Parts: sequence; C-alpha cells; structure tokens
Amino acid sequence: MKEHLLKILIIGDGNVGKSSFVCRYVSGQFSRTYKMTVGVDFSVKTLHWSDKEKVRVQLWDVAGQERFISMTRVYYKGAMGCVLMFDVTNSSSFLKCRQWKQDLDSKAMLPNGSSIPCILLANKSDLSDWAVPADGIESFCKANGFFTWMATSVKDNKNIDEAMRKLVEEILSSQ
Ligand code: GDP
Repeated sequence: MKEHLLKILIIGDGNVGKSSFVCRYVSGQFSRTYKMTVGVDFSVKTLHWSDKEKVRVQLWDVAGQERFISMTRVYYKGAMGCVLMFDVTNSSSFLKCRQWKQDLDSKAMLPNGSSIPCILLANKSDLSDWAVPADGIESFCKANGFFTWMATSVKDNKNIDEAMRKLVEEILSSQ
C-alpha cells in the first residue's frame, strides 16, 4: 500500500466558508456557527484512493488570519495543493482572489519549481443573489492559472467531495 501525505491549503477572505468547508469535508457536518480558534490549524482526512493507494489529506485553514492576506512562509511551506475560496454573493471576496493567488505563487512552489495546483471555489452557490457572473469566474480562472473552478455550497453539501477529489487527482498527476 502506497501512502501519500498531501498538505493542502485553504485560503480566501474571511466569512466565505473556509472553516465550514473543512468541517464538512472532514466530518460531514455543516454548522452555522462553526469557527476555529485563531491561528493556523489543520485537519486530516484519509481517502482510500485505490487498491494500492491511500491518501492522507492535511487541510490547513488560515483560520482568522485572512486580514493579513500575506500569509507567512511557514504556512505555505511544503504545500502541494490549494483551495482558493470566495463567496458568490460578495464581489469583494472575488476581487481579492487575484491577490491571494499572487501571494500563493510567490511563496509556494512544487519541488520542480512550478506553481502548486490550485482550484477556485465559488461558495454559497445555494444563495440566489450571485454578485459574480459565471463567465467572469471562468475567464478569471483561465487568466490566473487555476486548473479549474467549481460552484460549491457547503450548506447543501454540493461539490465538496468532488472539488477535493479533483484537486487530489491534479496533485497526484503533477508529481
Ligand atoms: P470562514 O471565515 O471563511 O472560515 O467562513 P465560515 O466557515 O466561518 O463561514 C462564514 C459564514 O458563512 C457562516 O455563517 C457559515 O454558516 C456560512 N456559510 C458557509 N458556507 C455556506 C454556504 O455554502 N451557503 C450558505 N448559505 N452559507 C454558508
């Protein structure tokens, strides 16, 4: 049995749903008031990837330090993949994604020097008042080096496992 340990970061503005995403993914729950303590924290989930492979996903949440945007190198060190999340009803959280991606690419890279695989998640897609059009997300995604984007709803458990599966696939194929 081959075991992969993957450090995956989750970044994005405050209140977009990052902690809820981690909680949903790791424990299958959605909690309206769930909030991690301030400071970098991580959660682990084991995936039985194939007959021969096990993947241990280590999810690092910025947990309340988003206001700094510029995260410390310790946070980025050894990261192999990244989830960048915004809230579809909050255009400013979308506009900030450019800075988040730049900070990521300036501080984290794969051992071979290329940028780490990053998926862009448009969260709270269950809400009707989208402030960001899908074609705008699509072109931003292409122009800024994300391998793909997906609309998610942590509340409705939509595309959470699917998004993480895509990211893990991308990471394993880039190794
Ligand atoms: P963080 O600051 O990015 O970690 O965001 P939180 O996980 O604390 O979530 C902020 C708020 O958004 C909380 O009240 C969550 O319950 C809510 N929330 C998270 N995901 C969703 C979602 O997909 N849909 C809706 N409607 N609310 C969500």
